[in-house]
Amino acid sequence: MPQKNAPPAAVKARSERITSRSRNADWKKPPRRIERSECITCDSCLRSCPPEFGAIFDRGLDVIIVPELCSGCPACVLVCPVDCIYVDEDWSPTGGDLWALADLTAEGTP
Ligand code: SF4
Ligand code: SF4
Repeated sequence: MPQKNAPPAAVKARSERITSRSRNADWKKPPRRIERSECITCDSCLRSCPPEFGAIFDRGLDVIIVPELCSGCPACVLVCPVDCIYVDEDWSPTGGDLWALADLTAEGTP
């Protein structure tokens, strides 16, 4: 029986990705990346990223995608007013600072 007040399964799965710092091996699409030199930091993409992924973070000076959390769905691409979100086939593992930020959102929407 599910634990009372337990987070929804999708939120739990995201939390597990944050804990393991790894991408879901079943995701077939590559993650996306935001081209910083073109981004106008409007946050439209952040609001459109489904909560079960919660892959986009506004760090104040820039808006970034954590590739390990990004399924490549690509809802954010459809709303970006300047078309600056690109496929990132050669993505690099996310660094510790950003994981610390992601940790803060592990049990809910970012
Ligand atoms: S492609 Fe989908 S999962 Fe990835 S950042 Fe965009 S909206 Fe979020
Ligand atoms: S929607 Fe596009 S321009 Fe706006 S913050 Fe996201 S990547 Fe930047």
